[in-house]
Amino acid sequence: MPDPTFPRRGDDRGLAAPGRIKEIASAANPIVKDIRQLAQKRHREETGLFLVEGLKLVLDGLESGWELKTLVVSKAALQGGSEVLTRVVSRAVAHGADVVEASAKVLEAIARRDNPQSAIGVFRRQLAPLKGLTLAAGDVAVALDRVRDPGNLGTILRSVDAVGAKAVILIGDCVDPFAIETVRATMGSIFAVPVIRAKEGEFLAWRGGFSGQIVGTHMAGTVDYRTPDYHVGATLLLMGNEQAGLSDPLAQSCDRLVRIPQMGRADSLNLAVATGVMLFEARRGALTL
Ligand code: SAM
Repeated sequence: MPDPTFPRRGDDRGLAAPGRIKEIASAANPIVKDIRQLAQKRHREETGLFLVEGLKLVLDGLESGWELKTLVVSKAALQGGSEVLTRVVSRAVAHGADVVEASAKVLEAIARRDNPQSAIGVFRRQLAPLKGLTLAAGDVAVALDRVRDPGNLGTILRSVDAVGAKAVILIGDCVDPFAIETVRATMGSIFAVPVIRAKEGEFLAWRGGFSGQIVGTHMAGTVDYRTPDYHVGATLLLMGNEQAGLSDPLAQSCDRLVRIPQMGRADSLNLAVATGVMLFEARRGALTL
């Protein structure tokens, strides 16, 4: 059934797979209400959709082949003649996405902040299956035990992307990788890095068949993090929860427990910083300027 609130206009523009364009001025509009609900994890889980703010990130998503369902753009910026915005609208329509030309009030309501970006995309999320993860010699992936902080997870996804690591496995009760704060912190890497979710038991079962090495990071680790050979086979870096570190079963599943030496008063590094240090060490041989 065609949606009467979203009349088709794409055909008028002669585009191959046209989406629909609609103007919305009121934050009370039901389409806006639906999009706003994506701030809540429950609604993201139910719909499989998530929000992406800003033209660059929306373009990253389109270029990475992710499904854009709805594009919300600033009507004022469009009328102001923003060329890049006009191009993104055309691409979104050609992709079959619905386009909402929105008032400043509507954009502020969706972004839940003043001075929001001129474009917000509603994308369909993608998660990869654990059993599909295969790592070749020299490959590196990261597994995170119960990561709780969206900024940490976003920063880690960005670092994983930056070093050419293959995937991030989220073990147990982790923050949603598609939370707006996480997506923001990834700076577009959400579209580049396969994300896998697994319960601890599933991960441990998978680990049984994994032929590479698992290098766990632990404050009680006795091995310097620069000691393991990261080039012989595949490596999975296992990182602990921000407060509790690695669970005992996960720590016991590691081939090695390494520590990053520290000086000064801090008793540990921030999780995202520690992951960055590990990633750049494990991928050192593969990175050149
Ligand atoms: N109180 C926690 C503990 O004792 O494990 C601190 C957790 S730390 C903030 C979060 C995670 O970052 C750790 O579980 C570990 O994976 C990693 N990490 C932080 N500093 C580290 C270090 N110096 N060496 C190895 N791993 C570190």
